[in-house]
Amino acid sequence: MNAKEIQNELGPGAVFPVGEENTAFAQYFVGTSYLNMLTTQGVGVGNVTFEPGCRNNWHIHHKGGQILLVTAGRGWYQEWGKPARALRAGDVVNIPPEVKHWHGAAKDAWFQHLALEVPAEGASNEWLEPVDATAYEQLV
Ligand code: MN
Repeated sequence: MNAKEIQNELGPGAVFPVGEENTAFAQYFVGTSYLNMLTTQGVGVGNVTFEPGCRNNWHIHHKGGQILLVTAGRGWYQEWGKPARALRAGDVVNIPPEVKHWHGAAKDAWFQHLALEVPAEGASNEWLEPVDATAYEQLV
């Protein structure tokens, strides 16, 4: 699917370019995602687009947290041990450092968020296991 077709799926809220297929982090995702780093100066801001069914593995942002600004589509955010939270355009998710979580699309919808890296000395990401497929499929 080309960028224009993806934009059409996402709708008018998706004002930032989708960018390229996210091959650098593909090993930490199920399904295809797209990543466009909008800026890497000061606060890193990436535009992340997920095809339907695509989600990232459980992961932890160490020291600096992450803020998600949902721009288009429908998706999910879940912290370990808690129920998943449904997301749609306009939602904000403030992910504290050291909290195990995942985020991604609904199984039947495209999804897009801006991901802001909260700056911190020695910040890093730790990638963990994939989300349980059966649990994901049961999300409604
Ligand atoms: Mn995250």
